[in-house]
Amino acid sequence: MGILRNLTSNVAVIRLTSIRNNNTVSMARRLQASRTDGVDKNVWVEFTKLAADYKAVNLGQGFPDFSPPKFVQDAFCKAVTGGYQMHQYTRAFGHPPLVKNMAKFFSRVVGHEIDPFEDILVTVGAYQALFSTFQALVDEGDEVIIVEPFFDCYQPMVKMAGGTAVYVPLRPKADGAILSSGDWVLDPVELESKITPRTKAIVINTPNNPLGKVYKTEELQMIADLCIKHDMLCVSDEVYEWLTYDGAKHVKIASLPGMWERTITVGSGGKTFSATGWKVGWAIGAGHVIKHLKIIHQNTVYHCATAAQEAVAQGFEREYEVYGTPESYFKQLPAMLQHKRNKLAACLQGAGLQPIMPEGGYFMIADISSVEVDLNGTGTEGESYDFRFVKWLTKEKGLATIPVSAFYSPEHSKEFDKYVRFCFVKEDSTIDAAGDILKKWSEGQ
Ligand code: PMP
Ligand code: GLN
Repeated sequence: MGILRNLTSNVAVIRLTSIRNNNTVSMARRLQASRTDGVDKNVWVEFTKLAADYKAVNLGQGFPDFSPPKFVQDAFCKAVTGGYQMHQYTRAFGHPPLVKNMAKFFSRVVGHEIDPFEDILVTVGAYQALFSTFQALVDEGDEVIIVEPFFDCYQPMVKMAGGTAVYVPLRPKADGAILSSGDWVLDPVELESKITPRTKAIVINTPNNPLGKVYKTEELQMIADLCIKHDMLCVSDEVYEWLTYDGAKHVKIASLPGMWERTITVGSGGKTFSATGWKVGWAIGAGHVIKHLKIIHQNTVYHCATAAQEAVAQGFEREYEVYGTPESYFKQLPAMLQHKRNKLAACLQGAGLQPIMPEGGYFMIADISSVEVDLNGTGTEGESYDFRFVKWLTKEKGLATIPVSAFYSPEHSKEFDKYVRFCFVKEDSTIDAAGDILKKWSEGQ
């Protein structure tokens, strides 16, 4: 008790339970490391639980509610029944068949000869590729430019690496109605104004989550020019690279002149083959960059599930053979999703909501400012409007979505708290069920 009396107010006292003697002991030192401060809230943890608790029609978290294509499912089954090796460790930085098939496949896409063993790191999902990137390349005091809206984990990952996130927003064009994600653009002057001698990297995400923006070559060239001029790295999160609609074309910034050497391209087997639970991801880049990511990887995760890597390897082998043909899953999936995107847009419009049509990705955002709901008693004091709205929609109407301000920095989230994100990578029946809820609601039932 003497120790406790001497505590100053900024020292947290943590009660730890000793399992051995079932006693509770007090710890007078601060338990948690400061890198965890301020990054404790997580939108996926909170809203995935809410959707499950209320058994809501789920257009929230981004995962397909349909099966991966048969050729990768078969490959996974074959792997798990194919002998002991598939159940044991494989090469730390990527299962050899996977990195070889990826190198062959992506060399053709990037227009650069990719070395399977030097230029690729296979990770536990795109998450771990991002984590390894920031841990390996961002130093104490470095600044990292993040384009808003952004996939939420970039900021905590930069902070946990000791860096500082600096934000630059995609803004709706001033002229005319904002109908498409293509109407949201970066201001080159504003972007360059954020660069300082401490700027280490810029993070982009194309196709973007949550907006669905697919960066055009000119936009990427503008970013590339700044990266080269100011000697910055580019972290390009391209997990939705095959999912573009209405003829929009995904361009890899790493394929632009002078960018291979300074770009880390992040990808996801989960998004590529509609198998998000497999958690196979990767970082691709020049060997002299990737070797630093490998250091983080070998001392943290070491390697990823062998059978899942084998299945993704078979997936790329098959896709290499059928590349550009109608049999390619990378053609079939976007065609299917374009139809689902249109279906969801029609449901939202039918209910009086104005969606912003995504050019790519899994998601569509819609303006909710015209909708009148009584949010009194929903959510917590001071919580942003969209968080409270999404809670209300889940609990009262049984439809789960995601608040868009979660994809903004605290500085800018207030400006974007009247949008909600809907995922359309769902069975038509799921989208229809959501449409029914919206229709009944708009008709006052
Ligand atoms: N980046 C973006 C933009 C995402 O939407 C996600 C979620 N799939 C990830 C990275 C993480 O991907 P993974 O599930 O492969 O870890
Ligand atoms: N990337 C997915 C999304 O944006 C899921 C992320 C997660 O569940 N952590 O919905």
